[in-house]
Amino acid sequence: ITDQTRELLLSRIRDIADYPKPGVLFKDITPLLADPVAFSALTEVLSAFCESRGATKIVGLEARGFILAAPVAVRAGVGFVPVRKAGKLPGATLAQAYELEYGSAEIEVHAEDLAEGDSVLVIDDVLATGGTARASLELIRRAGADVAGVAVLMELGFLGGRDRLGGTLRGAPLEAL
Ligand code: AMP
Repeated sequence: ITDQTRELLLSRIRDIADYPKPGVLFKDITPLLADPVAFSALTEVLSAFCESRGATKIVGLEARGFILAAPVAVRAGVGFVPVRKAGKLPGATLAQAYELEYGSAEIEVHAEDLAEGDSVLVIDDVLATGGTARASLELIRRAGADVAGVAVLMELGFLGGRDRLGGTLRGAPLEAL
C-alpha cells in the first residue's frame, strides 16, 4: 500500500464518539464505501494481498467484513464464504463460541463451504480485541482448511488484538492497512 492510498483510506474513515455505547470510539467506514475511488483502492490492495498469499477462499466476518471481502473475492477470482453470527445460516454449520468483554458470542460457517486443501484469508474492517478473528480462525481450521492470513482495514492497537490472535495465527500474517 502506498502512503497516498493509506492517506486516502484514512481520510474516509469517520470517528464517532460514544457509539454504540459511552467510551467507544466507533470507526465508521461508510464514507469510504461511498467513495468509489477509495473503495476500489482498498479492494485492489486487499486482492493483491490475497494473491500474494495464494488464498483459495476469502472469509468475510459479519457484517462490515462482508462488504469489504466480497469485491476482493471477485477481483482475486476466489470464493467468498460468510462467517455469521449464530442462527443466521440455513445449512449445516460449524459453530465457535468466544468471550466478549461482558458475556459471550457465537459465530458459524457453513461446513461445506470450507474443506481440506483450502487456504483462507479472513477479512474484516476493524480488529479490536481480536476475539472474533480468533474464533474465525478456529472455525476455519476445524473445517480442515488452512489460514492464509488475516487482513483488516484498521487495528485498534491499544486493545491488544494482535497479541490475542498471536498463537492462533500460527505464523500466518496479520495485515492491518
Ligand atoms: P473484536 O472481536 O473485539 O476484535 O471486535 C471486532 C468486531 O467488532 C469487528 O467485526 C468490528 O467490526 C467491530 N468493532 C469493534 N470495535 C469497533 C470500533 N471501535 N469501531 C468499529 N467497529 C468495531
